[in-house]
Amino acid sequence: MNILHDVALSDYSTMGLGGRAAHLITIESRMDLLEALSWAQAQSVPVVMIGGGSNIIWRDEGFPGLVIVNHIQRYETFKEDDENIYITAGSGENWDTVVERAAQAGLTGIEALSLIPGTTGATLVQNIGAYGQEISGSLVTAEVFDTKIGDFITMRASDCGFGYRTSRFKTVDRGRFYITAITLHLTKGQIQPPLYASLAAYVKEHSITDLSPVNVRQAVIAIRNSRLPDPAIVHNTGSFFANPIISANELIDLRSLHPDIPSWPLNNDRVKLPAAWLIDKAGFKDYHDAATGMATWAAQPLVLVNEKAKTTADLLAFKARIVSEVHDHFGITLEQEPELFPLA
Ligand SMILES: Cc1cc2nc3c(=O)[nH]c(=O)nc-3n(C[C@H](O)[C@H](O)[C@H](O)COP(=O)(O)OP(=O)(O)OC[C@H]3O[C@@H](n4cnc5c(N)ncnc54)[C@H](O)[C@@H]3O)c2cc1C
Repeated sequence: MNILHDVALSDYSTMGLGGRAAHLITIESRMDLLEALSWAQAQSVPVVMIGGGSNIIWRDEGFPGLVIVNHIQRYETFKEDDENIYITAGSGENWDTVVERAAQAGLTGIEALSLIPGTTGATLVQNIGAYGQEISGSLVTAEVFDTKIGDFITMRASDCGFGYRTSRFKTVDRGRFYITAITLHLTKGQIQPPLYASLAAYVKEHSITDLSPVNVRQAVIAIRNSRLPDPAIVHNTGSFFANPIISANELIDLRSLHPDIPSWPLNNDRVKLPAAWLIDKAGFKDYHDAATGMATWAAQPLVLVNEKAKTTADLLAFKARIVSEVHDHFGITLEQEPELFPLA
C-alpha cells in the first residue's frame, strides 16, 4: 500500500482550494479498498472516498483522516437481445469515457450525460443529470461495500433513494457505502424525440436529423463547451447551486412581483426555478470579485470560478454574498450543490 501523508487537497478538488489531508491513497481494486479500510481502522482515522473531486469543496482545515482516491477500472457488456444491452463499469472509470464507449456502440440512455466530469461511481451520489437524462434512469444495480455489514453487496436502483440531484449516498447513508461498480441498462437504436428543449433547438439549428447516440452526444458536447468552463483549465465545480423547487402557489406570489421569472413544471404542484436566472437578476452576471478572487462564469452565472482565490473561506464569502442578494431579491434561499468536506 502506497499511503501518502500530509497531502495538499487543492489537487483533489477541481475548485483548486482547501487544506491538507493527513493521509491519502489511490486504489485500483476491491482488494486495495479493503486494505485501505483496515489500515484506517487500525489507525482509528476517518475515511472518505472520492473520484475526480469535481463535486467537492475541501475546507481550509483539511481532512484529518484517510482520503481514498478511486481508480477501480472495469468495462463489460452483456447482451440480452438485439435491443437491450447491459454495461458493468468500474466505479473509478472516467464517466465520459464510459458514455463515449456506449454511444460509439450505438447504445442510448446516457448520451445526454456526456462530458460531465468525474468518475462512474460518483454519478450515483448526486444522481447526475443533464439535458433530460439522469443516471437513475439507466441504473440497474450498484455493487457497493457496506461498512455497516463489512461486506460487498448488490444494491438495486430502486433502493438507492434517488431524487433530483440526490440519493441515499448523499443523505441518510452518507459515508456508509463505497460504490465499486455500476450496471446500466441501455438500448440499441436512435434517440426518440421529444428532446430536451435546448438540445432540440441545437439539432434543429444544425439540421441534425439522424438522432444516433453519437450525434446527440456530439450536440451535447458542443452545447456544454459553449456554456461551461473546462475544469482542467479553469477551477470550478460546475453548477454551484441547485435549481430551487417551490410550490405552484409560491410561484404565483413570486410572479406578481417578477412576471418574467421562468419556471419548469414538476409533479405534485411543484415547479423548478433556474438558479442561473435568479443569480443573473440579482446582479452577478459575469461578476469578478476582487476581494475574494472568485467570479461567476460569463456564459453561465450558476458556475462559480476560482480566478485567484487563496482559501475556501474566500469562496464561501463570495457564495454568502450571492445567497444573500438572491434572498433579498426573491425571498429564495439557494442551496449549495458541491459538498463541503469534512462535514461540519
Ligand atoms: C464543469 C462541470 C460540469 C458539471 N456538470 C454537471 C452536470 O451537468 N450534472 C451533474 O449532475 N453534475 C455536474 N457536475 C458535477 C460533478 O461532475 C458530478 O457530480 C460528478 O458525478 C462528480 O464525480 P467525481 O468523481 O468528481 O466525484 P467527487 O467530487 O470526487 O465526489 C463527489 C461525492 O461523491 C462521493 N463519492 C465519490 N466516489 C464515490 C464512490 N465510489 N463511492 C461512494 N462515494 C463516492 C464523494 O465522497 C463525494 O461525496 C459538473 C462539474 C463540473 C466541474
